[in-house]
Amino acid sequence: MAKIIIGAGSNLGNRLQNIRQGLKNLTDAGVKIIKISSYLKNPAAEGTAGGEFLNAAVLAETDLEPEPLLALLHNIEKDSGRPQPHQPKEARSLDLDIIYYADRIINTPNLQIPHPRRLQRWFVMEPAREVAPDFCDPVLKKSLKKYVMPENMVVISQASALRKRLSAVRESGRKIGFVPTMGALHEGHLALIRACRKEKLFCVVSIFVNPTQFGPAEDYHKYPRNLKKDAELTRKAGANLIFAPTAKQIYPTGYRTFVEVAGLSEKLCGKYRPGHFRGVTTVVLKLLNLVQPDKAYFGRKDAQQLILIKKMAQDLNLPTEIIGVTTVREPDGLALSSRNLYLSPAERKTAPVLYQTLLRIQKDCAKQENSLKKILKEAAVRLKKNPLIKLQYLEAVDPDTLEPPEKAGNKILVAIAAFLGSTRLIDNIIFQIGNGKISKKSA
Ligand code: AMP
Repeated sequence: MAKIIIGAGSNLGNRLQNIRQGLKNLTDAGVKIIKISSYLKNPAAEGTAGGEFLNAAVLAETDLEPEPLLALLHNIEKDSGRPQPHQPKEARSLDLDIIYYADRIINTPNLQIPHPRRLQRWFVMEPAREVAPDFCDPVLKKSLKKYVMPENMVVISQASALRKRLSAVRESGRKIGFVPTMGALHEGHLALIRACRKEKLFCVVSIFVNPTQFGPAEDYHKYPRNLKKDAELTRKAGANLIFAPTAKQIYPTGYRTFVEVAGLSEKLCGKYRPGHFRGVTTVVLKLLNLVQPDKAYFGRKDAQQLILIKKMAQDLNLPTEIIGVTTVREPDGLALSSRNLYLSPAERKTAPVLYQTLLRIQKDCAKQENSLKKILKEAAVRLKKNPLIKLQYLEAVDPDTLEPPEKAGNKILVAIAAFLGSTRLIDNIIFQIGNGKISKKSA
């Protein structure tokens, strides 16, 4: 008897019942089923009719040769109500494919074994790996458990599917890197993905506009969303997987648990956006728990966010290493931000003033002529003269504690937040003060 792996799927009618009935018919026809995988939910490919697919794989044994086995599968599909021959893009009450037939490689017009598109379909390879981890792919000459799909990015919206996919990645010995985002991706986000890819990690990007970090009067509803464009950018940057859950999945009805980094979350931006960082740390902790990455990447542009997340990871003994990535800027110095899209042409032209102010503060500190306090005060006075800028805060703090810097010689974080029209922008710079020497650490 030959060992075979059959892929089974359905996206029409009672999907589970269709697959189960199909497998019963297979058994009745003398095919000996050894193991059935768990059932995966999987969105239908673009353009395919019908709803979401349910997919599974079956390890079995048969005396039938490949051609008669294929004919049997087509008959069983027909019994489920699926017209034969198949039409492209049709909804399927039942889809039965021969994925593997022992170690055979067959290439005829009617039949290709192993299934030629298996390697692009995680919903085929994942269940196949589950039922037969040691089965050797005769083309790859590799056991299924050793195989991961690094080149094909998938978009997953369900936490259960994410866990399954990532546990297979982990089992294959690959380390996982994670880049959480709210989408509307730009070069700043892509720098995080590239930093992750540079370390050869399996790169997971989440795209989730997190409602709990927006205040009632903030831009949650109008925050730019374009999953299709983001997916394309993410794929090009070399990520392996997008996790794009719905708000309901992350915060189901009755959700009650929040995490807060007390003492840090109320400072700087936290003073003006009450509850914002509570929402950020909560969603990041949830995402870290779902993805369980080895490393997670955050931009230094959101300096306070990075500091809080590092503290949370330390305090809660999270196993993930938190990595900060240098701010990506426009040629004129403006830090890239999804919110830059909101700026009018005049505001966009003015916006680099924020970074210029930070650089000037750094320079003035280097001169050691005036106190830090005076330098900051003068900078604020200059900014307030600009009619397009409404300064919210300009502060220098210790970059670990966010307390006022006690003594010269330490590193300081100078952070700024300002409105240009109704758009709130932030930026920061970290540098060493004291001894007349200044080294720009990051910006
Ligand atoms: P967001 O989508 O705004 O939540 O940002 C997702 C991640 O990208 C955060 O870790 C940000 O700090 C980071 N990020 C945003 N803008 C930039 C930038 N200009 N340079 C580097 N990282 C950035």
